[in-house]
Amino acid sequence: MAMQPVPTQPLPLPRIRVHLHATLRNVWAACCKAGQHTARLALDVALPTQCLACREPVAGEGLCPACWSKLSFIAPPYCARLGIPFVYDPGPGVLSMEAIAAPPAYHRARAAVRYDEVAKTLVHALKYEDRTDLAPTMGRWMARAGTELFAEADALIPVPLHWKRGWARRYNQSAALAAVISRVTGIAVETDLLRRIRPTPQQVGLSRAERARNVQGAFAVEADQRAAVKGRHFILIDDVLTSGATTQACTRALLRAKAASVDVLVFARVVEPFRPPI
Ligand SMILES: [Zn+2]
Repeated sequence: MAMQPVPTQPLPLPRIRVHLHATLRNVWAACCKAGQHTARLALDVALPTQCLACREPVAGEGLCPACWSKLSFIAPPYCARLGIPFVYDPGPGVLSMEAIAAPPAYHRARAAVRYDEVAKTLVHALKYEDRTDLAPTMGRWMARAGTELFAEADALIPVPLHWKRGWARRYNQSAALAAVISRVTGIAVETDLLRRIRPTPQQVGLSRAERARNVQGAFAVEADQRAAVKGRHFILIDDVLTSGATTQACTRALLRAKAASVDVLVFARVVEPFRPPI
């Protein structure tokens, strides 16, 4: 322990000095206490413990019990290709009717939750209301849902926005989710490989065929990026899988550039009862 320096002069008026010292100490202690209180208040303001979906107060982080009970996480058993949940377990590797009737361009798709009311609220808030605070939780749920995909993946590719839309919205929600998944898994995010080469109207309200037409030729791997795509395994990251038109268009662009495989990981997917063609 360091020695205290010995004063060279005798201390004048030691009694007053002690008294002052004690008073200052009390003032300092009071300030600290007030400071701690203020810091705690500031922390409460900075990190409100509100439900991510409805903003009701909650104990801890995440959703309130009411919203939590309405959110349906997707867990096995599900279709090995599409990740659509099965009502019963048909055994490992079994495909859904949808996957057999219309096999997707991508290899496998996985989703954290079904696209229902609460999921829709979270997706909408992240996309349009600047609720970037939702990305860490949503991304962690996605990382759990995508466990099977990570072993062979070389990179995560967020579905790109056209620069015009990215400019208007300021950030890409899929890139925000990909960044969280990258932190959890250690798999790099690549944002330069796939480009949205033409802006596409919103998919909302379009039929399945219209959605496919809408995004046809909208994505491309540009010539100078082809070498970085060839032979590699990718996971496309998006917030929602509806008809799959966007993810299919992205997948085809990557496969045309000789990607080895493309899997898809989304936050929420629409799960519809299968209606076979008549
Ligand atoms: Zn809630």
